[in-house]
Amino acid sequence: MAKIPMKTPLVEIDGDEMTRVLWQWIKEELICPFVELKTEYYDLGLMNREATKDQITVDAAQAIKRLGVGVKCATITPNAQRVEEYGLSQMWKSPNGTIRSILDGTTFRAPIVVDCIRPFVPNWKKPITIARHSYGDVYKDTELRVAGPGTAKLVFEGADGSRTESEIFRFEGPGIVQGLYNIDRSIESFVRSCMEYALSAGEDLWFSAKDTISKTYDHRFKDIFAGIYESEYKARFEEKGIGYFYTLIDDAVARVIRSEGGFVWALKNYDGDVMSDMVATAFGSLAMMTSVLVSPDGCTEYEAAHGTVTRHYYKHRAGEATSTNCMATLFAWTGALKKRGELDGIAELSAFAGRLEQAAIQTIESGVMTKDLAAIAVGVEVKPVDSRGFIRAIREHM
Ligand code: NAP
Ligand code: MG
Repeated sequence: MAKIPMKTPLVEIDGDEMTRVLWQWIKEELICPFVELKTEYYDLGLMNREATKDQITVDAAQAIKRLGVGVKCATITPNAQRVEEYGLSQMWKSPNGTIRSILDGTTFRAPIVVDCIRPFVPNWKKPITIARHSYGDVYKDTELRVAGPGTAKLVFEGADGSRTESEIFRFEGPGIVQGLYNIDRSIESFVRSCMEYALSAGEDLWFSAKDTISKTYDHRFKDIFAGIYESEYKARFEEKGIGYFYTLIDDAVARVIRSEGGFVWALKNYDGDVMSDMVATAFGSLAMMTSVLVSPDGCTEYEAAHGTVTRHYYKHRAGEATSTNCMATLFAWTGALKKRGELDGIAELSAFAGRLEQAAIQTIESGVMTKDLAAIAVGVEVKPVDSRGFIRAIREHM
């Protein structure tokens, strides 16, 4: 059988530990036998970030800007213990943070849904994708503990010499006060990333906040969403048969629980932090959660939402069998190949990625799965396999 050709290379971003091992196996067993794989390779393994003084991370992000589509393996974000373990000269920053800031992107998290892993919410049939704005708000706040009576004020001193001042609260005793900010430019990028993602997924886009209470701050988010939708996206959404709608966050929470899933839910930074953990947990397993970074100009980087699975890697290094689930890492590859196929007009490539996803889902639905899923699967006779055994079983299904 002739291999499927590619035109533009994918930006391939290698990583660390157990996911680096899976990375190689996925390519060997599931991609290279079928696709004439073209990639521009960036090794973000911690030792190479050290050797290049982290320049490799910047280069990888710029390659995504240039080529449009990347696929990334999980990477270690060093802490003090890693600095010692790897003899690092510095505690290098999170590669995901670096790439996100260069691409100015938004991260979308979506679960892989299989029959035998039932969401805790029984009516959820399709994935719910969470888009979290990852800039400002409470993550960049300024807080004060008020010791006793006095007045807290919000003061803005314009670069033009203007000054506005409003009273926050007149304290009669001890308390606390908090200052938050966001900027239009970041919100606009967030909105465009969400609109691009919804178009590419062919799903409705919801945005929710608390504009009835936060009449200026949250209202600004709502207005920017509405403005960009009306002026840039409405026609494209209608053509694709999808919709955008805003609703209050309390109403959204109720609707999400009653829904069947199958939409993108955009949220402010804090709401997205909390709701993404809730939705991920309710769908069943971290190993089944994918993640895509989308820039406002439509560049994409696909990865797994989980980390490098350190505990399994140490077992693997000691020669023991492991039960690491490759689904999210595999879906990062298929997501990237599908997108590349769409952009380059290679229908075969996108179709192949779709078939590979189906084969992986059917493998699990036939009962063949790693231990993490075996523990929560229902309605199927489970045949547990190790990390490599699972990848081989997917290949047989292919
Ligand atoms: P983790 O790698 O996500 O693993 C935490 C635990 O979750 C594992 O020990 C395992 O549980 C389970 N798990 C996660 N993925 C699994 C999979 N594919 N198959 C089976 N079980 C899975 O998180 P971590 O141990 O906190 O972090 C390890 C390293 O990853 C850290 O250095 C961190 O900096 C990095 N990290 C990177 C990213 C990224 O690059 N996007 C994200 C998060 C963390 P059991 O041990 O109980 O089997
Ligand atoms: Mg969280």
